[in-house]
Amino acid sequence: NVASSMQTLFPGQVKATIHEHATKQSFNDWLEASQATFATQFVGDARATNHYTSPFCYLEDGAGTKFVGGCDDTLAFFRSRTQSAAAPSAPARNVHANDVDDGATYDWDLVVIGGGSGGLAASKEAAKYGQKVLVLDYVKPSPQGSTWGLGGTCVNVGCIPKKLMHQSAIMGELLHKDAEAFGWAVPNATFDWTKLVTSVQDYIHGLNFKYRVDLRDKKVKYENFLGTFKDAHTLTLTNPAKGKPPKDVTFRRALIAVGGRPKSLDCPGADLAISSDDIFSRPTPPGKTLVVGASYVALECAGFLKAQGFDVTVMVRSILLRGFDTDMAARIGTYMEEEAKIDFIKGAVPTSIEQLANGQLKVTHTFGEGIYDTVLNATGRNPDVSGLNLPAAGVGLNPKTGRIAVTHEQTSAPHIYAVGDVIDGPELTPVAIQAGRLLAKRLFDNSATLMAYDKVCTAVFTPIEYGCCGLSEDAAIETIGADNLGVYHQSFTPLEWSLSHDRALAKECYCKLIVDRTQNDRVVGFHYLGPNAGEVTQAVGIAMKLNASYDDFVSTVGIHPTTAEIFTTLEITKESGLDASAAGC
Ligand code: FAD
Ligand code: NDP
Repeated sequence: NVASSMQTLFPGQVKATIHEHATKQSFNDWLEASQATFATQFVGDARATNHYTSPFCYLEDGAGTKFVGGCDDTLAFFRSRTQSAAAPSAPARNVHANDVDDGATYDWDLVVIGGGSGGLAASKEAAKYGQKVLVLDYVKPSPQGSTWGLGGTCVNVGCIPKKLMHQSAIMGELLHKDAEAFGWAVPNATFDWTKLVTSVQDYIHGLNFKYRVDLRDKKVKYENFLGTFKDAHTLTLTNPAKGKPPKDVTFRRALIAVGGRPKSLDCPGADLAISSDDIFSRPTPPGKTLVVGASYVALECAGFLKAQGFDVTVMVRSILLRGFDTDMAARIGTYMEEEAKIDFIKGAVPTSIEQLANGQLKVTHTFGEGIYDTVLNATGRNPDVSGLNLPAAGVGLNPKTGRIAVTHEQTSAPHIYAVGDVIDGPELTPVAIQAGRLLAKRLFDNSATLMAYDKVCTAVFTPIEYGCCGLSEDAAIETIGADNLGVYHQSFTPLEWSLSHDRALAKECYCKLIVDRTQNDRVVGFHYLGPNAGEVTQAVGIAMKLNASYDDFVSTVGIHPTTAEIFTTLEITKESGLDASAAGC
């Protein structure tokens, strides 16, 4: 297709497109047999680009034979030519029709502010379609002084270090709870925080480097600068740490993908608390820890710290996991208290934090006080918009949430867009990535596909993992009505936990499917509490996207023995009142 498209666009000018070399060996075999007159140049290009598969495209442009590139480069070249030939100002974009090109000349086709999940995905996608793209990424140090490299929250202070710490916790549990029953004697297994942090940080530094190389390979320019709008088409770039003079750049379009940063506590001594921006790179063990907050970040951090052997207390202002299925949240709470032995102070907030002479922290709260080595504040995140000077660009906020107001990721300034945690929607990495990619395709590749923010799967990596997709039971009752719903459920004990004598609440693993009886039992909510929740949920998410019904689930043949197979055998409904506790194999 690439070859024939090029031939159509440049009749008689395409000197060669070379295909079908699936391996370096087959490429070398072809070279040997080749009679190509430009073989020397071709070999040079192949070696220089390390590109040995199909196609290789050469174009005769009058000044000689020009190497266009491999598949991606040729496609980008082809698209840039067809777009400028067919529609000089912009490709057809029915979705963002008010983003009209003014025909002026700018330094950049697209400047992306923020090199995190959403910004990197969008920038690479835009460059694919021949756009001249600049990514700005600058990390403002946390109040504790923590800072990090390219890649944003997920890579540096979010999903990645969190999941690695969670994995460390799972290993601890396997060693302490299960190993012996499975025949392993692991005497004196000890945990070393500093060693874990060093491994995690080494891994992250490798990722930071890979992201930079990837941008360079994809022809996206990266600058370690903080961007601030000067006017609707100009950004001022500064780097306070490097002390370089500020400079201005102009852009045809901009994408704001600056994410969020942890909120601070609002009590005296709040600065003595650390946040998730600090915990994953903290060189010394946190010791006895108070975690303030009761959602994803708080419960996940409390979980791994406890399993690593630290004394952990969680201070809950109201409920656990606001917005999630309340039944599932309650089960997570029970497991964390009774099985993981984490202390909870419920209905309380800190009223002051004070440092004692020995360095420990005295926390006074609604019901009393306690002494801790570390206070981890996990009370949510604010969009990182304060330094952007949004009014200068005509970009407005949602006054209720303080996030950038968008319609299909387009802001109130029609040529400026926003994705990820800085807009209203699920604050999740794959959401930012998908929204960024789809936006770039709409803007630069004539796509009309919009981001769907519903049926987004998520997993909470608490000591008992939780995965869900679609509606909570509470939301289903509210939107569909209790009389129109069926709730299939079952408790179960995972086989991998069944030999251990030390897993008292193993039967707390639980799943439920919520179906809409008025729509042929279409599954509207999926909930799973048990090992490998992220893996199980991701796969079921596809079925949810395809509007699977209860019959589709139970007519699927399971894989035995797994925990996920339970979704192929669910029979007991909540409304039947029958016992849904675990049965045998
Ligand atoms: P970010 O990734 O935050 O990137 C924004 C970037 O922009 C940052 O590098 C920032 O420094 C930079 N920046 C800000 N202002 C400027 C400026 N003016 N100029 C230049 N650069 C600027 N999600 C999941 O899906 N799964 C998980 O398991 C998960 N775990 C998490 C655990 C924790 C502890 C946290 C805090 C979050 C977690 N998340 C998880 C959420 C996920 O990390 C975010 O949803 C995601 O990173 C958002 O991506 P983004 O592109 O919107 O912003
Ligand atoms: P959330 O906004 O989800 O939760 C904030 C928590 O802090 C709530 O429990 C809230 O309680 C409590 N809180 C808020 N203010 C105060 C206060 N002043 N004093 C005491 N408690 C307070 O924030 P998170 O930081 O947990 O997570 C942010 C986002 O990051 C999530 O929405 C999620 O999308 C993403 N994330 C995803 C993960 C994953 O995919 N596994 C993991 C971690 C984060 P209340 O209910 O009373 O308001």
